[in-house]
Amino acid sequence: MIERTGSKDEARSAVAAARKEGKTIGFVPTMGALHEGHLSLVRAACRRCDFVAVSIFVNPTQFGPGEDFERYPRCIDDDLSLLSAEGADLVFTPSREAMYRDDARVTVDPGPLACVLEGAIRPGHFVGVATIVTKMLSLMRADLAFFGEKDYQQLKVIELLARDLDLGTGIIGCPTVRDHGGLALSSRNAYLSAEERTRAHAIPAALEAAAQVAAWGPCATDEIVKTMRETLDEAGLVTDYAVVVDPATLQPIDRLDGVARALIAARVGDVRLIDNCALQAAD
Ligand code: AMP
Repeated sequence: MIERTGSKDEARSAVAAARKEGKTIGFVPTMGALHEGHLSLVRAACRRCDFVAVSIFVNPTQFGPGEDFERYPRCIDDDLSLLSAEGADLVFTPSREAMYRDDARVTVDPGPLACVLEGAIRPGHFVGVATIVTKMLSLMRADLAFFGEKDYQQLKVIELLARDLDLGTGIIGCPTVRDHGGLALSSRNAYLSAEERTRAHAIPAALEAAAQVAAWGPCATDEIVKTMRETLDEAGLVTDYAVVVDPATLQPIDRLDGVARALIAARVGDVRLIDNCALQAAD
């Protein structure tokens, strides 16, 4: 039976009781409006851990002014049924007040990886992410926590956060789940009209084209970037960035010789989507 609580103490006790029984603990933090991408993380956690906790919390501190915090989709009843069917053990659904004291003053500085790309465009976003993830991980004290490669920069920021702050939880990255046309599943896809959704498929198409150019062999990354931008432009998307970066430092690279990561942020109408893929130059 799945247990739901909004109380930090109850969540802590449920995890402590499972640990006392000798169970390993897996944790999947989410903002809800669950789809197959989230559920793939829950399945990975269920495969590797005996007791799986999932949090659902639309974290206000990672949204900037004018972003979509208010309209972010919330459907807790559907989410609970999905998690129950997957066999998750605990769902933690705290209120804003439970997570943040009115007089909270301390935040977590996520370091240089958080200053580029999403961090440059959404100031404060990764401070909000790093702070809530640190709080959630210290509360759950899980053995493993599962995050999607869909939010590649977030995954890299959290890997370093857990490492550098000795948070004691292993961070596991999981592959991006996509629809039949390759579009990465995202709670924000719910904002797209049918016509916008069709055009949004230019994002995975651009990444696929980038991977193909890379697969021909070592090349200047300008060539790959040009291919991505052309694909996005043709579909009438507004590109925030389309870059080829070092997969660990997220710094741009001029020449692709081995592995790299292509990342895209683009707007379809007023919906902003992000996606990424690995690039591998043939020998
Ligand atoms: P969110 O609810 O958007 O904060 O996402 C919660 C977790 O699910 C994050 O670790 C995301 O990277 C992950 N996630 C979101 N979309 C996908 C997807 N399409 N495939 C795999 N993981 C995903």
